[in-house]
Amino acid sequence: MQTDRTLILGLIETCREVIAAHADHLCELDRAIGDGDHGTNMRRGCDAVYVDRDRLSGMPLAQALEKIGLTLVMNIGGASGPLYGTLLIEMGRKLGSNAHKTNFAAIVGEAIDAVARRGRSQEGDKTLLDVLYPVHTEMVRQSALVRIADTAKESAQLTAGMRAMRGRASFLGDRSIGHVDPGASSCALLATAICHYLKEYRPA
Ligand SMILES: [Mg+2]
Repeated sequence: MQTDRTLILGLIETCREVIAAHADHLCELDRAIGDGDHGTNMRRGCDAVYVDRDRLSGMPLAQALEKIGLTLVMNIGGASGPLYGTLLIEMGRKLGSNAHKTNFAAIVGEAIDAVARRGRSQEGDKTLLDVLYPVHTEMVRQSALVRIADTAKESAQLTAGMRAMRGRASFLGDRSIGHVDPGASSCALLATAICHYLKEYRPA
């Protein structure tokens, strides 16, 4: 499918660019409450996907999402690799088996639930779920892409007020309060970049 090729290539490039541009900042956020490698890890994951972009963009969207998810699991590492990986793998699998239905918001919602199970986390635990769930709510409401992007950014900022319940940051207890979660931040950066890309995207 030609449409998928353009879309997949565009999304891969967009995500890689935004992470590369903010990798240092993501490391800085992670230094405050973690081990300081989140930007490096995310960049490695996005670079690995980018290297494989020609093959990936030749696949149907569902299959490409699943393969990108596997690449992220293998290359991001840390706590975030399996979470981002699960999100994309589940989206791909659900989209593949529901290709006749196109309720994309429902598919994304199920994939986010899978991320929550994988991380044994819920909303409010100061993780990327604190961006994913609000973004999903806007998707269900069929909000405009700019609104979804704003929600992603605002939601990431709100993690500063939360106490980390999962991962390395949770060892800090109350001292994790006052810092934006790096995973929520990378998630918001990606969601925002994807929204802006889709806003301009015109299928061939
Ligand atoms: Mg880290």
